[in-house]
Amino acid sequence: MLGEGVVPVAGATDVLVHWPVNLAAREKTYLDLSKVGELRGLRWTTDVLTLGGLTTYWDVMQEERAAAEFPLLRAAARQVGAIQIQARGTWAGNIVNASPAADGVPVLMAYDAVVVLASGAGTSRVALSEFYSGYKKMARAADQLVVAVELPRREYTFGVFEKVGARRAQAITKVGLAITRSSAGWRVVANSVAPTVRRCRAVEGLLEGGVRVTSPAGFLPAIRRDVSPIDDIRSTAEYRETVMSRLLYHAVRGACASVV
Ligand SMILES: Cc1cc2nc3c(=O)[nH]c(=O)nc-3n(C[C@H](O)[C@H](O)[C@H](O)COP(=O)(O)OP(=O)(O)OC[C@H]3O[C@@H](n4cnc5c(N)ncnc54)[C@H](O)[C@@H]3O)c2cc1C
Repeated sequence: MLGEGVVPVAGATDVLVHWPVNLAAREKTYLDLSKVGELRGLRWTTDVLTLGGLTTYWDVMQEERAAAEFPLLRAAARQVGAIQIQARGTWAGNIVNASPAADGVPVLMAYDAVVVLASGAGTSRVALSEFYSGYKKMARAADQLVVAVELPRREYTFGVFEKVGARRAQAITKVGLAITRSSAGWRVVANSVAPTVRRCRAVEGLLEGGVRVTSPAGFLPAIRRDVSPIDDIRSTAEYRETVMSRLLYHAVRGACASVV
C-alpha cells in the first residue's frame, strides 16, 4: 500500500542516483511499479493521447504517430540523458521528481498535459501547469500514483523545443524552452529558470496581444515577470535570462506577426 514513507519506483534513474551516499534512503520502503502492465505504453482516443504512468522516453521515440502529432515529445526525449536513460526513464518519474531542469515536463506542459492521479480513494486530474506550487512541491498526496498523463489532441501550427546545456548529451539544462501554438493559443514553458518548470503567461500574453517586439531584449520585461533564474554551478541568472530572450525571439520571429 502506498503512503507516507513508501517510494514508488519506475525507471529508478532518479531514485537510485544518490543511493551510494544517501544512507537514509536505505531505510525507506520501495514499491516497484515495473510489473504493472496497465501503466505501460501509449493509448489513443479521438480526443486524447494517454501516456501510461510507466511510459518511457524510448516508447514515445518509437511511436511515429506521436512524433507526427506531438513532435516536441520526441525532440525532448532525444535530449534526455543518453540511450540508457531514455530506455528506462519515464515521463511520470520526470514529473514527480520535480526538478526545475526536467526536460520532459516543459513539452508536456506546452501540450496542456493533465496529470492523472490515483489512490485507494479514487482518481483525480490536475493540469500539469497547475501541478507545482514551489520547489519540489506538487499537488500529489503520498498515497497517489501518477497512473497516466493525458494530452489533448489538437492541430498544432507551431512547435519548438530548445535545450541549452554544456553539451548535446548527458547535460543538465541551463535554459530550456518549449513553445507551441494551437487553437488554444500560444504556450511558452521554460525550465531551469525558476524553482519549478514554469509556464510563462506574461510572454504568452505578449504573443497573443500583438505587441510589437523587434529584438530579444523586447521580451525581457515579460520574461522577468514569468521567471526568476539564479546563479549556480552551471550558469548565472543573467546568462539564463539573456539566452531565454534570444531563444524565444529567434524561435517565434516569422511565426508570430508582431515579432519582427
Ligand atoms: C545519467 C542521467 C542523466 C539524466 N539526464 C536527464 C536529462 O537530460 N533530462 C532530464 O529531464 N532528466 C534526466 N535525468 C533524470 C531522470 O532520468 C528523469 O527525471 C526520468 O524521467 C526519471 O524517470 P524514472 O522512471 O527513472 O523515475 P524514478 O527514478 O523511478 O522516480 C523518480 C521520482 O518519481 C516518483 N515516481 C516515479 N513514477 C511514479 C508514479 N507513476 N507515480 C508517482 N510517483 C512516481 C518516484 O518515487 C521518485 O520520487 C537523468 C538521470 C541520470 C541518472
